[in-house]
Amino acid sequence: MPRPILATVHLGALRHNLDRLQRAAPDSRLWAVVKANAYGHGLERVFPALRAADGFALLDLAEAERLRALDWRGPILLLEGCFEARDLELCSRLNLWHVVHCEEQIDWLAAHKTHQPHRVFLKMNSGMNRLGFRPAALRAAWARLNALPQVEEISLITHFSDADSPRFGADGIAHQLEAFAAATRDLPGERSLCNSAATLRHAGRALGSGQLAADWVRGGIALYGSAPDHPEHRSADWELQPAMTLASRLIAVQQVEAGESVGYGSTFVAPAAMRIGIVACGYADGYPRHAGSGTPVLVRGMRSRLVGRVSMDMLAVELGPAEADGPPCRIGDEVVLWGRSQHGSLLPVDEVAQAAGTIAYELLCAVAARVPFAID
Ligand code: PLP
Repeated sequence: MPRPILATVHLGALRHNLDRLQRAAPDSRLWAVVKANAYGHGLERVFPALRAADGFALLDLAEAERLRALDWRGPILLLEGCFEARDLELCSRLNLWHVVHCEEQIDWLAAHKTHQPHRVFLKMNSGMNRLGFRPAALRAAWARLNALPQVEEISLITHFSDADSPRFGADGIAHQLEAFAAATRDLPGERSLCNSAATLRHAGRALGSGQLAADWVRGGIALYGSAPDHPEHRSADWELQPAMTLASRLIAVQQVEAGESVGYGSTFVAPAAMRIGIVACGYADGYPRHAGSGTPVLVRGMRSRLVGRVSMDMLAVELGPAEADGPPCRIGDEVVLWGRSQHGSLLPVDEVAQAAGTIAYELLCAVAARVPFAID
């Protein structure tokens, strides 16, 4: 018997979430963001469910090649553009759209002998201060690109740092939105500004004479069923469905007495006699070691909680008082770490992430290579 841990990707949920994002920005096209192996779900696994997207956005050429191998002939956008000059050759051969965020990338394009003109997204740094041209440098960068025969089409892109929260002023995006609108006012070309949070929260906001959703939105985490602005909103508030379930089984049941501890470091001490279940899932499976006692799990579909430290291959969960009513939990019983239980209940990955002091993005991307995957 293989170890009982399994990650399941739910294609119906992916289709539903894609539709949900498309309905939030009905006049825009949607880049399905599938970087990091589709946020840990597996590019090849999610592709059949997401092929109704208008394009796929990702980071590296190897992932773009995998998409072309799936016979995707539509748009693919490299979100960080090329990492070195020689990437342009493959970029051109795979017919990719690519971000240009710095002068060096324009130098590489200028020197590139291409048989196929490039479509680029010129990136403006509107306040995130990660990638892109600052407002004062944007026009000159646009003019340089526009003068290159290698460049066929220039679109404009920026990325919000706080679309998920009202951290700056009223809504987290106003300062970046203003900077982008002012710097690009009379530049031609398509625009893309919104990630999942901005699409769900602000798609209808004004941008010039149009809307913030503009020509393209870029949906990532919402496709996978997590609320981009958790805990202000839960995935159910946005009508999103979890696209991944990480489930395992009980491999042992322990009876502990009051005052006895559980696991490394004895961080959990039983306040009364209780039963503890040992689950085949640990940090070597990608489960966060920082998840402490109290982190939610579903045992046979019922909410329970972690007790003690997460080990490399195991974790412990509370099964209730020693003389609880009802059928006792047994080896082989289902334990859902996040996602959907076979018993019908749901544990959003956002809740587990919050308990572990991180975000759903990290948990989904971190499922380890040793965990087998299934599709339903
Ligand atoms: N656009 C860019 C440039 C990104 O880096 C990302 C992800 O980090 C996204 C869009 C998608 O963001 P989200 O997953 O929050 O929708």
